Amino acid sequence: SVAVALFTSDLRLHDHPPLRAALASADEVVPLFVRDDGVERAGFLAPNRQAFLADCLRDLDAGLRDRGGRLIIRSGDVVDAVRRVVAETGAGEVHVAAGVSGYAQHREERLRKALEAEGRRLCVHDAVVTAVAPGAVVPSGAGKDHFAVFTPYFRSWSRERLRAPFGAPRAVRVPDGPASEPLPERSRVRGVSEGLAEGGESAGRSRMAAWRRHGLARYEDLHDDLAGDATSRLSPHLHFGTLSPTELVHRARSAGGAGAEAFVRQVCWRDFHHQVLAARPAASHSDYRPRGDRWRTERAAADDVEAWKEGRTGYPLVDAAMRQLRHEGWMHNRGRLLTASFLVKTLYVDWRVGARHFLEFLVDGDVANNQLNWQWVAGTGTDSRPNRVLNPVVQAKRYDPDGAYVHRWVPELKELGAPAVHEPWRLSGRERAAFDYPEPLVELSEGLARFRAGRGLD
Ligand code: FAD
Repeated sequence: SVAVALFTSDLRLHDHPPLRAALASADEVVPLFVRDDGVERAGFLAPNRQAFLADCLRDLDAGLRDRGGRLIIRSGDVVDAVRRVVAETGAGEVHVAAGVSGYAQHREERLRKALEAEGRRLCVHDAVVTAVAPGAVVPSGAGKDHFAVFTPYFRSWSRERLRAPFGAPRAVRVPDGPASEPLPERSRVRGVSEGLAEGGESAGRSRMAAWRRHGLARYEDLHDDLAGDATSRLSPHLHFGTLSPTELVHRARSAGGAGAEAFVRQVCWRDFHHQVLAARPAASHSDYRPRGDRWRTERAAADDVEAWKEGRTGYPLVDAAMRQLRHEGWMHNRGRLLTASFLVKTLYVDWRVGARHFLEFLVDGDVANNQLNWQWVAGTGTDSRPNRVLNPVVQAKRYDPDGAYVHRWVPELKELGAPAVHEPWRLSGRERAAFDYPEPLVELSEGLARFRAGRGLD
């Protein structure tokens, strides 16, 4: 008998329930990845993620070959592609991870219908993409289908018993027949950020091991230190599923300590946003909690938006973070919070404009975490203090006290020590002329007044 293991956002061999179930139920398994047209049409194939994906698929194929198998790659509509493989191989079952976004839920529905119509079975596996499946914990109270507040979610989530993670299979027997398209190559993708990290399960596992040895214990103290760059940088691996969130949480918990606890809490944020999106798929584009804003559109604020995107707002910390995004396809969380707050609250531009730009570059860019974090910052999401505004100067002095992060990304200010480097506009005209760096786009007090008026707070 033959079964298909359809890989989506779970490009790994370790701790992979769909693959394990397929191997348990059939003699031969087709490990299948479909380069889905629908994802491309939705504008989701940004170069950085395409390049990282190419690494992931190569590594997955190599891992399968080590075990006697290979990866089958097809492209087109995902349902058509799966049906074709099923017809070619006579597979009776297709195993796939449960999807979270509206798109993934719809894909699952379509697949189920198409397979059942042909007498085949779709087997959907929970807790593959997240550690705790969306909907597995819900608040008490009639009709409540998700948590809208993080802290009680974290409490319930922490009480859930996670399944024990398991290793990669020893052998994978793939039927002879099905042909594969060639593996994509990272070097063929254009427009990739220079400093983009390497993708693939092997790279992810090495990073996880190094993180456990050298980073985890100090995470609580250092996670907001911008220059220290002391977070795990595991987000792209979680996004592509080259690491299992279940395994990661288990490993962190077994290491123990305050650093591990803080880290697990952060990983829980990821599950939190996934369960919000699973219950409210429209939150990917419309306000989860509308606040009556009259945001400026990208067109109305074109010059400001361009300056923000290019990292020349005149606020050094904002500019440093925006340049890191372009250069690496990744940005430190503190930078994401600050640059997002600056766009929506100081420049008063619609959060969707910023979310779209982040998705163009972020290697970990995903609908749940990106859109819902943007909404959180905009105050249209789950933040219980929706009107807070982050001050880039205060943030800079707190999280980049020596100015090292700004010096790294805004080299034109390298000669300026801290704290002066965070407020170059305070220098005399003659001193400023020595630096080729723009004036602030807007006074912070002016930005604040515009936001408060727009939101009807005054
Ligand atoms: P660590 O600090 O090491 O945290 C470990 C893991 O926990 C991360 O890899 C991530 O999976 C999860 N995590 C941490 N913080 C958050 C959070 N606030 N929300 C959800 N998960 C979190 N994260 C994404 O994975 N994809 C995105 O598209 C994304 N967009 C964001 C947009 C904005 C405006 C903001 C404010 C945050 C966004 N984040 C996003 C969350 C967070 O910034 C990144 O997950 C984190 O910076 C990744 O770095 P790390 O792996 O070193 O994180």
